[in-house]
Amino acid sequence: MSTITTVRVGEIFLSLQGEGPSAGVPAHFLRLQGCSVGCSWCDTKYSWDTAGGRDCEPGLLLDELRALGSAPLLVVTGGEPLETPALVPLLEQALDRWERVEVETAGVLPPPHSHEQLLWNVSPKLPRATPRWEQTWRHTAAWLAEPNATFKIVVGDAPDETDALRLLKEHAIPPGRVMLMPEGYTDDGLRERAVALSEVCKRHGFRLSPRLHVWLWGARRGV
Ligand code: SF4
Repeated sequence: MSTITTVRVGEIFLSLQGEGPSAGVPAHFLRLQGCSVGCSWCDTKYSWDTAGGRDCEPGLLLDELRALGSAPLLVVTGGEPLETPALVPLLEQALDRWERVEVETAGVLPPPHSHEQLLWNVSPKLPRATPRWEQTWRHTAAWLAEPNATFKIVVGDAPDETDALRLLKEHAIPPGRVMLMPEGYTDDGLRERAVALSEVCKRHGFRLSPRLHVWLWGARRGV
């Protein structure tokens, strides 16, 4: 049996974490290539193709990231990082080099690794996002058992709100571990949805996640 030791990389850059509990923190970004979830509103469709990007040995890749400048946080995103076979060896090496490592995932598999410096932003999908939405909720119990997992739910308009509330209740996810994030690519669209979601957050005790990168730089790649 062959062991895959390289990872497929779509892009790397230095920016600020735009979403989730670490929003605003300077961060290196590592976008892994490959995703089979198929969200209709996905803003990184170029990351879906497993043959896209380039093959990298994890140690050299992390050196390349560090050479971009300094930041306390590494964000590993995608694509769907859980579909990268060499994810765990990559994370183990990254945890030696960054104060914190944060992984953005749809939660299609259970947590593959646990560490006090390793944070998981888990975004199970709503039914209107993708026909594969059920798969992203299948491992919720395992993610609830991971203390460093935050559930970041991307919400569009009113039917999405209803679905989000139903699924969060069905899976007994404590409100303190939930962030709602507006779906959208424009300032006006995001603001309108964020205002509506702020009321839902106040009612249910959820946090509201910004999309700082859209606010700061617009819907662009590599920021
Ligand atoms: S899981 Fe993420 S990368 Fe994959 S389609 Fe959905 S939003 Fe895009």
